[in-house]
Amino acid sequence: VEKIPSAAPTATHSAPQDSKILYADMCRVFSEIEETSSRLSIVKLCSDFLYSVLLKKPQDIVPITYLFINKLGPDYEPGLELGLGEGLLMKTISESCGKSLAQVKAKYREVGDLGRIAQDARAVQPTMFKPKPLTTGEVFSNLQAIARSEGKDSQLRKIRLIKRMLTACEGVEAKYLIRSLESKLRIGLAEKSVLIALSKAILTLEQKGKEPSADMVDEAEEKIRDAFCQVPNYEIVIKAALEYGIMEIDKHCKLTPGIPLKPMLAKPSKSISEVLDRFEGQRFTCEYKYDGERAQAHLLADGTMRIYSRNGENMTERYPEIRISDFIAEPDKTHTLILDCEAVAWDKEQDRILPFQVLSTRKRKGVVAEDVKVRVCLFAFDILCYNDEPLINKSFAERRTYLERALKPVRGELQFANEMTTASLDEMQAYLDQSVKDCCEGLMVKVLDGPESHYEPSKRSRNWLKLKKDYLQGVGDSLDLCVMGAYHGRGKRTGRYGGFLLGCYNQDTGEYETCCKIGTGFSDEMLQKLYDDLSPTEVAAPKAFYVYSDSASPDVWFEPSMLFEVLTADLSLSPVYKAGAATYDKGISLRFPRFLRIRDDKALEDATSSEQVVELYDSQSHMQK
Ligand code: ATP
Repeated sequence: VEKIPSAAPTATHSAPQDSKILYADMCRVFSEIEETSSRLSIVKLCSDFLYSVLLKKPQDIVPITYLFINKLGPDYEPGLELGLGEGLLMKTISESCGKSLAQVKAKYREVGDLGRIAQDARAVQPTMFKPKPLTTGEVFSNLQAIARSEGKDSQLRKIRLIKRMLTACEGVEAKYLIRSLESKLRIGLAEKSVLIALSKAILTLEQKGKEPSADMVDEAEEKIRDAFCQVPNYEIVIKAALEYGIMEIDKHCKLTPGIPLKPMLAKPSKSISEVLDRFEGQRFTCEYKYDGERAQAHLLADGTMRIYSRNGENMTERYPEIRISDFIAEPDKTHTLILDCEAVAWDKEQDRILPFQVLSTRKRKGVVAEDVKVRVCLFAFDILCYNDEPLINKSFAERRTYLERALKPVRGELQFANEMTTASLDEMQAYLDQSVKDCCEGLMVKVLDGPESHYEPSKRSRNWLKLKKDYLQGVGDSLDLCVMGAYHGRGKRTGRYGGFLLGCYNQDTGEYETCCKIGTGFSDEMLQKLYDDLSPTEVAAPKAFYVYSDSASPDVWFEPSMLFEVLTADLSLSPVYKAGAATYDKGISLRFPRFLRIRDDKALEDATSSEQVVELYDSQSHMQK
C-alpha cells in the first residue's frame, strides 16, 4: 500500500511526510460513529477523517479505508482473513491486562463484548512507563502479519503481536483493536457508507477543501462503486481516483483478467406470468439455471487460467481437469477472456448432468487431475471481457455473439448454457419442466437488448429473473441465513442440537437479525455434522451485532460461521423475530422453514439481506391483496 503516490496534485500543501496518523485519532472517530445513529452524520464523520488523512498523509488512505471496513486487503487475495477466535483473544487479554482467564470468561458471559472487557481491564491497569502511541500504519501491518502468520509457532506469534499492541492502547483503542481482531468492528458503519465517505473525501480534496454538492457526491460515489465492482481492489481504485480525478476513474479501472469482478445476481420470481408482466415490451431469453457452483473463468495473457468462485476466491486448483485454452475457437486471435459460467457435476458414462449434491462431494484442496472422480462441465452463459476489451456495457445479445465466436464447446467439458428465446407462456412452461428433467433448478430469464441488458457487476438486478421450479409455491426463492444459535436436542436428538436460530444480514448496520427457528429437513448425519462443526463455535453470550428478542433466545449462541439455505412456505410478521424490523414495527419471519443445505460458497455478509426479506414479504402481501 505504500505504493500509493504522494497522491493528488492538490495535496501538495500537505503536512511533512513523516507525519503519522495515530490509531487513537481513528478510534475517536469509531467511537463517535458508534454513538451516532443518523446515516448522514456517520458518513460525515468518516469522510471528514478520510479527508484529513488525504491532507496529512495520503499514503495511508488505503490502509485506513481497510481499517474502516475491517478488512486487510482485497477479498480475492488469500490469507487476509482475521476473525480470531474468542479463546485466543480471552487468553491474550488475560495475560496482558493482568486478569485471570476465569475473570475474563466470567466478564464475557456478563458483557458479551471482548473489546469492552479489554478496554476496562486496560483502564485499571497500572503502567510503569508510557509506551509510544500506536499509529494506524502499525496497527494495519500488524493485523496483516497476524492474519498471514501460519505454521508451528503461529499462535504464539499472534499472541505476542496482539500483546505488544494492547500494551500501547489507551482508552477505547483496546476495544476497537480487539473487535478488529474478531473481524467485527460493529460501529454501525457498513462498507456502503465507507464508499460514500471516500468519494466525498476525495471530491473535497479535488475542490481544495470546498464542500462538494450532494449531487456531485452521488455521482462520484456511483463512479467509485462501478469501478470497485469491476476491480474490487481499494488500492487500485483509490490510486486511480487520486491520480486521474474521481470522475475519470471509469477510464482507468476496467475489468482486468486476473482480477475477479463481483458477479451479477438475479431477482426471484414466483410465476411465468409475473416474468411476462415484468418484461412486457422487451425481448428476453430463457436459459437453464444450472445447479452447481458459479465459476468465473479468466484466461490471462500469459496463457494461464484462473477460476474464481462467487466470492472471488481463487479456486483454480479445485478444478485441475479444466483448461480453458482447450476450448478457444481461434487461439491465435484470442489472448484474454473473462467468462461467467456454472460448474456442474457431469456423468461421463451416462452423458448427463449430476445433481449439486454430487458436486459437493468433490475435494476442495489438493485436487489432482488424475484422481478426479466427479467430473465437472462448465456451462458458459456470459462473456465479460475479450482480448482486454470489457464487454459488460454491450447488450446481452451482442455478448452472446462474442461468446459463441470465442469458444468451441466440447460436450461434457465446456458447453454453452441451454437457451430458448420465446415469449409464449406455454413454451416457457414446457421449457421450465424440461430444465428440471435435465437436472437443473429452473430457468434464468434475461433481457436481451439495450442498456437494461448490460452486465451489472455485483448487482441483484431486475433484468435477470430466476424461476426456480421448487419454490414457485412458496416465496419464489430459498433464503440463505446465518446460524446464530441452537436449541438442545431432545429424544432422538439428545446430545446434539435439535433446532437452530437463524438470521438475515442487515447490510446497512452490519447486524444479523433473527427471522426463524428451524428444526425440519435435517438428516441424522447432517445433525451430527452440524454438532461437530458448530459446537466449537459456541460463545458464552450473544454477539453484540445480533438483533434478537429474549422470547426467541436459543440455548447456545454461536460465533457466526455458517449459512443455511432454507425453504419457506411464506413470510409473516412476528413480534418475536427482528428481520426488517426497521421497515415494519414487527419483524418478518419464515413460516414452516425447512433446511435444504449448508451454503458454503457464500460469505457470511452475502446472506439474504434484511432488504431482500422485506422485498419478498412485500411481493407476497401484494399477491394476497
Ligand atoms: P441461488 O444460487 O440460491 O439462486 P444466489 O444468491 O447464489 O442464489 P442468484 O442470483 O439468486 O444467486 O442466482 C443466480 C445463480 O444461479 C448464479 O450465481 C449462478 O451460480 C447460477 N446460475 C446457473 N445457471 C445460470 C445461468 N444460466 N445464468 C446465470 N446464473 C446461473
